[in-house]
Amino acid sequence: MSNKKEHSLRPPTAVLTRGFDPALSVGSARPAVFRSSTYVFDTPEAAERAFAIMGGRAQREAGEEVGLIYSRFNHPNAEILEDQIVPLEPGAQAAAVFNSGMAAIMTAILAFAKPGDHIVYTVPLYGGTQHLIHEFLEPFGISGTAVRAGQTEALTTAIAETKNLRVVLLETPANPTLVMADIRRAAEAARAHPDKPLVMVDNTFLGPAFQHPLELGADVVLYSATKYLGGFSDLLGGFALTASPELMRPIKSRRGLFGNILQPDECWMLDSRLPTVRLRMNRASKNAQRIAERLNGHRHIEKIYYPSLFDDPEQIRIYKDQCDYPGAMMSLVLKGGKPAAFAFLRSVQLARNAVSLGGVETLVSHPRSTTHSSVSAEELEIAGVTDGLVRISVGCEDWRDLLADFEQALDKIG
Ligand SMILES: *Cc1c(COP(=O)(O)O)cnc(C)c1O
Repeated sequence: MSNKKEHSLRPPTAVLTRGFDPALSVGSARPAVFRSSTYVFDTPEAAERAFAIMGGRAQREAGEEVGLIYSRFNHPNAEILEDQIVPLEPGAQAAAVFNSGMAAIMTAILAFAKPGDHIVYTVPLYGGTQHLIHEFLEPFGISGTAVRAGQTEALTTAIAETKNLRVVLLETPANPTLVMADIRRAAEAARAHPDKPLVMVDNTFLGPAFQHPLELGADVVLYSATKYLGGFSDLLGGFALTASPELMRPIKSRRGLFGNILQPDECWMLDSRLPTVRLRMNRASKNAQRIAERLNGHRHIEKIYYPSLFDDPEQIRIYKDQCDYPGAMMSLVLKGGKPAAFAFLRSVQLARNAVSLGGVETLVSHPRSTTHSSVSAEELEIAGVTDGLVRISVGCEDWRDLLADFEQALDKIG
C-alpha cells in the first residue's frame, strides 16, 4: 500500500501520508475499519498465487499486488498501521503489529531461537519478559544468560563467550531505575560473533521519539504499544520493527501461526495515535525534566533516578551517546522506606496510583509491593527496587500543577 516517492518525507509528514490510499476506502480522508475475517479472490489463480507467496514457495514480483487472504495473517488496518509506523522508527524497513507488547517480544524471540539455542539479556527486564524467559523459554530449552544493564564490558564478554547465541535482548532504559545499556557496543559484539546473533531492543521507554536502536546497529526494535504509542491507557498492542525486510518474514510467519496479530478496531485506534506520539512524548519529557530537576535535593528525597540527573560516568556516557532527550519516566527514592512511599501515594491528588506508563495522564506506583513483588531479593537488589522507591510516569498535564501536587504529597510524609 505504500508509495515509493513518499519515503523521502520527514517522519511527521510520512506518518500522515504514506500507507493509506483514500481511493481504497470510498474516499474517506482517514482510514476506515475493515472488520472482515476473510477476503474474496478475483480468480482461483489469484488465490493460488496468494497462498504460494504467503507460504514462501514464490516471491512477490516488483509492483505485484497480492490479495489479502485471512485476517490472522494480515488485514488492511494492520497493513496501514505497519506502513505508517515505519517512518517513525529511524532505520526501520518493516513492521509487524501484535496484540500486546509481550506478544511482540515472544514472537520475535521464537522466530529466531529454538531449543538448544542461547540468548543473552540485560537485567532488570520488564517483569513479563523476565517471567517469559524463566517460566517458558528455559523449560522449553532456550537458555538465557543475564547481564546487569550498564556493565558494558560484562555484556560484550557474555556475547563473545556464549555458544549457539541467537538473540541479544536489551531493555534500555530499564524499569524502574532507568539504568541504560550500550546498544552500539552490544551490536558490535554481536557482529563479531560467529553465530551472528540478532540484537533486539525493547524501546518502550524512550522510543520512537528519543532513542533509535536501529541506527545504533540493532536488528529488531520491540514495543509495548500499550504505553507511549497508544498514549491514552485504553488499548493493548505491540510492535516489532526490523532493519531489513528479510528479518520480518520469519516474525510474520510465526505471528500467523500463533494468531497474535492486533485486531482491526485496535489497529485503527492505534493508527490515529501515531501522528501525535512525538508531540505527547516531547511534552511529557519536558514536564518530567522540569519536575525532576526541581524536586532534586528535596528533604524527603534520598535520590532521584532520571537521565539528566545521572551521576555514574558510564551511565552519563551512554545517555549522551544514544538518547536525544531524558523522557518522562522517573523514580524517587523517599527517605523513610515503605511508610513514606505509601504516604506519598495516598496523598497525591492529580497523579493516579496505577501501574503502566506512557499515557497522557500521570501515574505513580510502588514497584516493590506491586510489579516487582514476585521478584527475588537478589534480583530486587540488582534492579535497585527499594522499599522507598516510587515510580512516576509523567503525563501531559501542566508541569507546575504536577510539581505542586508532588510537593504537597511529599509534605505529608513523616
Ligand atoms: C508494558 C511493557 C511490556 C509489556 O507490554 P504489554 O503491552 O503489557 O504486553 C514490555 N516491555 C516494557 C518495557 C513494558 O513497559
